[in-house]
Amino acid sequence: MSTVTFQAGANIKIDEDECVGCRKCVEVCPEDVYELEKRPGETDPNREYKSIVIASEKCILCLSCLEICGKNAIYIEGKQ
Ligand code: SF4
Ligand code: SF4
Repeated sequence: MSTVTFQAGANIKIDEDECVGCRKCVEVCPEDVYELEKRPGETDPNREYKSIVIASEKCILCLSCLEICGKNAIYIEGKQ
């Protein structure tokens, strides 16, 4: 049986088109990987903000953000 060893951090992508800036990922992440950023020039109040990844190297792959994002906008790939 082979075992997979994950290194610290992860490759994280956020689908900007799907993200509605609800802030749930920012709040749930125990490692402060995310931050909300204002979309420049956005006039739709429901899309004023988007989540961005500011510290992917701190991700511990708890997957809480994946579970909480109602838009399925987050993609995470662990580093092996
Ligand atoms: S939880 Fe999903 S929709 Fe909400 S801010 Fe994070 S990525 Fe965007
Ligand atoms: S998997 Fe956990 S540690 Fe990694 S970004 Fe999501 S909530 Fe943060």
